[in-house]
Amino acid sequence: MSGQTYSWWSLFKNGLSHHRTWEPAWTRRPLQSGYDVVIIGGGGHGLATAYYLAKNHKAGRIAVLEKGYLGGGNTARNTTIVRSNYLWDEAALLYEHGMKLWEGLTEDLNFNVMFSQRGVFNLGHTLQDMRDIERRVNANRLQGVDAHVLTRDEVAEKIPQLDCSRRSRYPVLGASWQPRAGIAHHDAVARGFARAASRLGVDLIENCEVTGLDIQGGRVQGVQTSQGYVKAGRVGCVAAGHSSVLARMAGIRLPIESHPLQAFVSESMQRVIDTVIMSNAVHGYLSQSDKGELVIGAGIDSYLGYGQRGSPHVIDHTAAAIIELFPQFSRVRMNRQWGGIVDVSPDACPIISKTKVQGLYFNCGWGTGGFKATPGSGHVFAHTIANDRPHPLNEAFSIDRFHSGHLIDEHGAAAVAH
Ligand SMILES: Cc1cc2nc3c(=O)[nH]c(=O)nc-3n(C[C@H](O)[C@H](O)[C@H](O)COP(=O)(O)OP(=O)(O)OC[C@H]3O[C@@H](n4cnc5c(N)ncnc54)[C@H](O)[C@@H]3O)c2cc1C
Repeated sequence: MSGQTYSWWSLFKNGLSHHRTWEPAWTRRPLQSGYDVVIIGGGGHGLATAYYLAKNHKAGRIAVLEKGYLGGGNTARNTTIVRSNYLWDEAALLYEHGMKLWEGLTEDLNFNVMFSQRGVFNLGHTLQDMRDIERRVNANRLQGVDAHVLTRDEVAEKIPQLDCSRRSRYPVLGASWQPRAGIAHHDAVARGFARAASRLGVDLIENCEVTGLDIQGGRVQGVQTSQGYVKAGRVGCVAAGHSSVLARMAGIRLPIESHPLQAFVSESMQRVIDTVIMSNAVHGYLSQSDKGELVIGAGIDSYLGYGQRGSPHVIDHTAAAIIELFPQFSRVRMNRQWGGIVDVSPDACPIISKTKVQGLYFNCGWGTGGFKATPGSGHVFAHTIANDRPHPLNEAFSIDRFHSGHLIDEHGAAAVAH
């Protein structure tokens, strides 16, 4: 087990051996024949779930089974925006729970997740946008979430690069602003949770695809994998875009659609943007990474699919939207583009739930905006699995809401705005 710390001293010491002697961050143990809890999916949410199961619930022998490499799914592919300014109490409180965990995560994991609270702006371009923004900000204040309505002049002062002139095609009338929001480093989050979970004895098994669920007498007994059969007392599925595939193995039909979602980055340049700016109206958002790249994202590709790539016209449309907001970026060259597969639910809210199969739980439906929830999602899902009942914060996110009609419609606050 890695006892290594990341300090100036270890940097110096390992530098003497040309950095060939660093201990691996987590231990690679072989797959065992059975576990008390099996988590399917080694993305940020799965790893966080395993970590909190081991840390807070002492849930026995735990394994995370990942068909590829840890953190290689949407966790590796997202644009890392973290915020909690959702409209409805249920959603805002869940995301705010995540936000509070983010604020202490680096210390908790003893791993720098590079959480940077640089603020997030959601621009308003029409009177209706501004009314929606005011309604959401008022709701956020009642929920205890930091939120402000800014006028056009205040936005122009805080983001001088943004075209706030009246002649622009989509004039900026104002914005909502959450100062505590920001970004974190996606790989660091996955690695931090993996390292911390491994230290608590969780087995992290890569290249291990779950191909079947063994269910007898209405209770889960184990999982079939590409590395053989594994007995399991409880099984938590956290497979994002592939959740429906796993649910089908249990005879469950999830109300989830899997869509490609793309992002792209520019060449590196001097730091000019020190915050995150999103616009639903022009359908694009942007921040600048520590390396100086503009990190740009958009809405989903409208077709369904499992290929981790999207279509060129979405990129074209997004680049045009960004140039509309920031004309001076029109000559910046774009470096890389990629796609992930996001699991979109009908009300743009997650499903964190028990199922009709005893011992089988699902955490999915985060769609375009689950990265921000990584610690909060893992925390409440671990509680749900360990106690066989939901945490108060995810009670409303049960799969039953699609039967009862108690939807939590966050399309207004989710949409393009991740
Ligand atoms: C381009 C893009 C931009 C985004 N931007 C943001 C953003 O700015 N802010 C935000 O909050 N969210 C954003 N998101 C959404 C966010 O990335 C996801 O909601 C979040 O990462 C989901 O985490 P996860 O751990 O559930 O999924 P993943 O990281 O996808 O992990 C699921 C894992 O399950 C594994 N798996 C699947 N099937 C099996 C199987 N049968 N057996 C074993 N393993 C399996 C997969 O290989 C994968 O590693 C974005 C997504 C994309 C694609």
